[in-house]
Amino acid sequence: MKRKQIVLVFLIVCILGFLLFIPKTKQKETKTSTKKKTTISYYHKEYKERYNNYQKSHPDLTKKEVYTLVNMNRDYDFYQKIIKQENPNALNTLVNKYYQLDENYEPSDLVEINTSPGTYGTPYRKHTARKVVYNDFQALKQACTNKGFELYVASGYRSTSWQKEIYNHMVETYSVERADETCSRPSHSEHTTGLGLDIALDQYKFEDVEKHPQYTWFLNQLSQYGFILRYPKDKENLTGYSYEAWHIRYVGKKLAKKIEKSGLTFDEYYARYYA
Ligand SMILES: [Zn+2]
Repeated sequence: MKRKQIVLVFLIVCILGFLLFIPKTKQKETKTSTKKKTTISYYHKEYKERYNNYQKSHPDLTKKEVYTLVNMNRDYDFYQKIIKQENPNALNTLVNKYYQLDENYEPSDLVEINTSPGTYGTPYRKHTARKVVYNDFQALKQACTNKGFELYVASGYRSTSWQKEIYNHMVETYSVERADETCSRPSHSEHTTGLGLDIALDQYKFEDVEKHPQYTWFLNQLSQYGFILRYPKDKENLTGYSYEAWHIRYVGKKLAKKIEKSGLTFDEYYARYYA
């Protein structure tokens, strides 16, 4: 009898537990799923039709990917939708194949960046960048010196007219397609913001910088000094540019760390948090 009673009590407890517990869990689940639906903060209802169209033509993409790509304007080809960048002086300013600087834009705080050019940087002495970049760049340079190698800027600020010359030369020598792969059209170059730098290490010119034995160490330091690698490997479809091991971009320490942590390109990050 005693044993029977114990079994009975156990059964009652189980049933009660089941009745009380299950509906709660279910309720919780529904709550979380509705919450999830509303927490994609970068959904813009005015783009609803564009999201739908893009999802239809790219059924394998998740909602997050669709929202990000459409916010980036990737439902248009590069240079097919041009947006004037209204905040060219902000550290988080985005200039790419959609966002364009005013053709008269020129930063007002340019300073020489290779002030201690060392053995290899002397021919690049005249290169400039915005003053906001200067201190963190010098600190990064010092960290490299402490590690036993030299960092310098091989190309800093470029004006719109300078960029026009470079681009036209590329088009004349090769073709529009070839020029667009590696070279920005005038007013679309990050170098014109004064925040983008092509860097070189020791005798390794910028194109070969990746071959420097300390290159990986160097990359790992960037965010601590407010820089990101702007055109990473295998991200051509997002950035619009071939991989550039040498092109770094100043965004400030706080944002550089956030972007690094996100694993996103700056174009994607901007589309989620600033577009
Ligand atoms: Zn560059």
